[in-house]
Amino acid sequence: MYQAIIIGCGFAGAVAARELAEKSGKKVLIVDERGHIGGNCYDKYDEHGILVHQYGPHIFHTNNTRVYEYLSRFTGWLPYRHEVVGNIYGKKLPIPFNLNALETVFGDQAKHLKKILIDTFGEGARVPILKLRESEDKDLRMIAEYVYENIFLKYTMKQWGQKPEEIDHSVSGRVPVLLSYDNRYFQDEYQGMPADGFTPLFEKMLDYPGIEIRLNCPAKEVLSFHPDSGQPVTFEGKPYDGMIIFTGALDELFDCRYGRLPYRSLDFEWEHYGKPFYQSHAVVNYTVTEEYTRITEYKYLSGQSDKPDTTIMKEYPRSYGGLKGEIPYYAINNTANQALYKKYHDMAEKIPNFYALGRLAEYKYYNIDAIIDRVITFTEGIGKERA
Ligand code: UDP
Repeated sequence: MYQAIIIGCGFAGAVAARELAEKSGKKVLIVDERGHIGGNCYDKYDEHGILVHQYGPHIFHTNNTRVYEYLSRFTGWLPYRHEVVGNIYGKKLPIPFNLNALETVFGDQAKHLKKILIDTFGEGARVPILKLRESEDKDLRMIAEYVYENIFLKYTMKQWGQKPEEIDHSVSGRVPVLLSYDNRYFQDEYQGMPADGFTPLFEKMLDYPGIEIRLNCPAKEVLSFHPDSGQPVTFEGKPYDGMIIFTGALDELFDCRYGRLPYRSLDFEWEHYGKPFYQSHAVVNYTVTEEYTRITEYKYLSGQSDKPDTTIMKEYPRSYGGLKGEIPYYAINNTANQALYKKYHDMAEKIPNFYALGRLAEYKYYNIDAIIDRVITFTEGIGKERA
C-alpha cells in the first residue's frame, strides 16, 4: 500500500514525491489527469524538432542556492540570459523599463531624470510602477506616467482584464522599474534552462525506488473524500489513511460547492516559419497593441539557434470558466477570492493527512524556485506542519 498519494505531477508534486521517497523511504503514488509528467513545465520537441513549452514559457531563475543545487542533481544547465523587449508601437524597449530604456525614450532629458531617480530611490533600486506613480516630483511623475501607459496599462488589461492598480500590487511589482543598465528580465544569481529540457529533468527526479506514476488518471477516479461526514478517504474503494498531497485546484476537488475560484487562463497560437529567426529576443511583449500579450520564440530558450526554421507562440489571456480543456494558469488574488479560497482550505483541513501544495492548491502566484523551496521545507517538517 502507498504511504503517500500525490495528486499532480508538476514541480510541487514531483519534488514532494522525490523527497518523501528518498528522505523518508515512503512508497509514493503520483496520479495526474494529463498524459504526461511535468505539469505546466512540460516541454517536448514539436514536429519541426524545436523544443517548445506546451503551456507557455518557463524560465528558471533563483537566488536560492538550495533550490539551484537541488535541481542541479537532476539536470545540467544551458547558460541562458533572459532578455525581454517591449514592442511599443513598433519601437523596442528593454523590459523591465531600465536606464537604457530611459535614455531611449527621454534622450537629452535622460541624464537629469536618471539623477532624480537615483537620488530618490538609489542606484540599482527596483521600484514598483505603482510606487513610482505616487511620486510628487513632477519629473518622476512624468516618467511614471510614460511607463504606466506604455508598459503596464494595456498589457495588464489584456492579462488580467483589470488595471494595474486594481489587481494585487505584488503582480505588477514582479516587473519593477529598474534603476540600472541591466537588460536582463531577472536579476537573480542563478538562471538557466535545463540542458535537455524540463521533461527530462522531471524524468530524472521521479526515477527513484518507491515512486510510481499513473498518468491519464483523474484523482477522483481513484480517491474519494468525505470531508463532511468524517468517513475515511478511500483509495480504489478501500479506506486509506496515508498522506495525501494535493496540487490541483481545491474548488474543483470539492465540486465548486461554494462557487468557482477565479483564475485567468490562456489560449496559445502556434506558428512555424521557414526562416532562422522571427524576432530579436526570446520574448517580445506587446504592451500597447495587439490582442495577445507576448510572443515567445522557443529556439532562443532551447539553444537551437542554428536551426534554419523557427516556432513561435502567441499568448491570448482570458478568463477561466472550468470548461473541459481549459487550464487555470493564474490565481486572481484579492480579498474576496482569498475569503472564498479559505472556505475550500477549511474544508480540506477536515481531511486527515491532507496537504494542499502548489500554485493551484494554495491559490498563489508561485515561481518555480519558490514552490520547490516550499515543498522541500514542507517535507522536512512532515508531521509538524499542516500546509
Ligand atoms: N506586466 C506588464 N507589462 C509587461 C510585463 C509585465 O504590465 O511588459 C505586468 C502584468 O500585469 C503582468 C505582471 O506584470 O501580469 C507580471 O509579469 P510577469 O512577466 O512576471 O508575468 P508571467 O511571466 O508570470 O506571466
